[in-house]
Amino acid sequence: MLLDVRDLRVEFRTRDGVAYAVNGVSYGVDAGETLAVLGESGSGKSVTAQAVMGILDTPPGRITGGRILFRGRDLLTLKEEERRRIRGAGMAMIFQDALSALNPVMTVGDQLGEMFVVHRGMSRKDARARAVELMDRVRIPAAAQRVRDYPHQFSGGMRQRIMIAMALALEPALIIADEPTTALDVTVQAQVMDLLAELQREYRMALILITHDLGVVADVADRIAVMYAGRIVESAPVHDIYRAPAHPYTRGLLDSVPRLDQKGRQLYAISGLPPNLTRIPPGCSFHPRCPLARDVCRTDDPPLYGVDDGRSSACHFWRECLHDRDH
Ligand code: SF4
Ligand code: MG
Repeated sequence: MLLDVRDLRVEFRTRDGVAYAVNGVSYGVDAGETLAVLGESGSGKSVTAQAVMGILDTPPGRITGGRILFRGRDLLTLKEEERRRIRGAGMAMIFQDALSALNPVMTVGDQLGEMFVVHRGMSRKDARARAVELMDRVRIPAAAQRVRDYPHQFSGGMRQRIMIAMALALEPALIIADEPTTALDVTVQAQVMDLLAELQREYRMALILITHDLGVVADVADRIAVMYAGRIVESAPVHDIYRAPAHPYTRGLLDSVPRLDQKGRQLYAISGLPPNLTRIPPGCSFHPRCPLARDVCRTDDPPLYGVDDGRSSACHFWRECLHDRDH
């Protein structure tokens, strides 16, 4: 396994008390595999990724437990310098907001080129040539001219392509993309997602795709991990999830995706809001919103039950959920 996150825990100090952002998350990706991490905002999916990348704000964020194994080495035990080296060449991250992730006062050519100068020891001239190649590869028209432009001179979709180019530059084994298309128009979203999937295959990278939108993952992901209140509540191969979810929360997410074959159908929305992470409900943390909840759910915290090969669900009633097609 390329990346193996085990029982990760992250807390934040807030004015309301300790926020339990990540509460024992385990997930992994093999080389070349795509894992989609799905959940509403505040589910802990970004915080987990930031812990993996080593860019968690500390303080107030604090890793209180677990291991993050990358190629078998626990990143949490490495010195900052070693960590930085892995971050540069082994893994890269793509953020939702390219405008704030890119340097506004540096041309995109210089930003891309700098990666090759710093990490590969290339001359400025060679680095510039590689920058043009990469911009061309992510299909930025007139790349040879546009390397001289600044981030704000590009459209949102083009800027996101530049971020993809930055992430690809050192050919990392793993890319983590946190809501990479959320800020874009729907048609541009699809183009950027297609490009990312294509490059991932070409470069044989592992990809962790963080999203709140189940609609974007079907064609891209091999596996899905669904997060709720800082935990993984269902983990399964993508096709199993679409065929029949084994957790009521996954079912809710699935039913709230617009489908072309059901035009005009009233879209389902999961009632209520995700919990305040300083006061996570006892028992199953999803119980206040769950259509299948009963007494045991308010007191007994469900473990991750093995559903079948490569599939697990943190629901006492996963069997029922799996077989009940219309709740
Ligand atoms: Fe719903 Fe109970 Fe399952 Fe939690 S354990 S998801 S409350 S049925
Ligand atoms: Mg987020």
